[in-house]
Amino acid sequence: MGVFAKKTVRDVAVQGKTVLLRVDFNVKMQNGVISDDTRVRAALPTINYLLEREAALIIVSHLGRPKGVADSKYTLKPVAVRLQQLLKRPVLFAQDCLGTVTQKQAAALAEGQVLMLENLRFHEGEEKNDAIFAEQLAGLADIYVNDAFGMVHRAHASTVGITDYLPAYTGFLLESELISLSKALDGRERPVVAIIGGAKVTDKIAIIENLLDKVDKLLIGGGMANTFLAAMGYNMQGSPVEEDRLAWAKELMMSPAALKLILPVDVVAAQEFAPEATHHCVDPQNMPTGWLALDIGPDTSRIFEKEIENARTIIWNGPVGVFEIEAFAAGTRTLAIAVAESGAFSVVGGGDSIAALNQAGVAEQISFISTGGGAMLKFLEGKKLPGIEAIVHSKR
Ligand code: AMP
Repeated sequence: MGVFAKKTVRDVAVQGKTVLLRVDFNVKMQNGVISDDTRVRAALPTINYLLEREAALIIVSHLGRPKGVADSKYTLKPVAVRLQQLLKRPVLFAQDCLGTVTQKQAAALAEGQVLMLENLRFHEGEEKNDAIFAEQLAGLADIYVNDAFGMVHRAHASTVGITDYLPAYTGFLLESELISLSKALDGRERPVVAIIGGAKVTDKIAIIENLLDKVDKLLIGGGMANTFLAAMGYNMQGSPVEEDRLAWAKELMMSPAALKLILPVDVVAAQEFAPEATHHCVDPQNMPTGWLALDIGPDTSRIFEKEIENARTIIWNGPVGVFEIEAFAAGTRTLAIAVAESGAFSVVGGGDSIAALNQAGVAEQISFISTGGGAMLKFLEGKKLPGIEAIVHSKR
């Protein structure tokens, strides 16, 4: 299918072969307990497929940022235990992703067995895309499969380097992420409406520029909207406005692309950044001096809702307010419900937007929820993703 012609797990005979599967099991942990196992569940279709076809399966991942040294705080052991519960079959564990003991465990692995290796980032070579590290990892297996969509924007040994040493294929999660994101951006189902929120405009400039080329409407909310409002001459000094982006924002708003841009016409202004802060809805023209804009107001919500109702494709990344605080959560909640009920093909990504969907209890109604925040943003920027390029162009 598409860019992955002949490069998906469906295209390779895995029976009796040892498959090294790169997943993104960088789960949220609290005191050694997994608080959200979405990423583990998301890899199950590929894992089950490989096991049903009698591969011997080695699973590799990173967890957190241990910076190249073994650190028990970042062990993948609890994740292996959770995987065992979900698979209802034993998951063996290797204390290191390399070394002679691990090599023996890998070599002894029978068809249908699963071995999970300890955190890849306990070795510096992983993030450095070190060729020797990649070759040693590859030496454990016959075939490489990447299902870690959340990591495809990083050129690491387990996402890029390894494809020099093993025949490389994509798993189902990675494939469906790419299909969904491509479908959202290819303009087949118009109007295409993108909603971009979040804290800082700097992080999203490349996305805004790329999306304005592709979508019909771009709705902007959250902290980043304040820089645009300031560029329009409003009194936004209380909010963290990015002064060095004002010129860019002004220029954009005077370009023809600005016709697609929809900015807040009212905001929830608060006297301070605090849950109990005095707050009310104001027109940004009348911002009280020193107050902060912490959510979109009801008039903006209605305008955004109308665009969402009218859309046939929706892309959403980033909350439009400080949704972690109830007083400033209404805008993001309204959007979550509107996107869910729109009937449009909807793709949502980014931890905060997904949390907002869960808070509103509407996650089930979204067409596709991306598991890779950073990777999704890079895709929306229109950038090539090294992990995908490595598979598409691998020669083995
Ligand atoms: P990002 O990681 O860039 O997607 O930003 C997400 C964060 O942006 C969340 O923690 C929100 O609380 C924050 N945020 C959203 N709207 C605003 C706002 N108007 N002012 C300050 N922070 C905001």
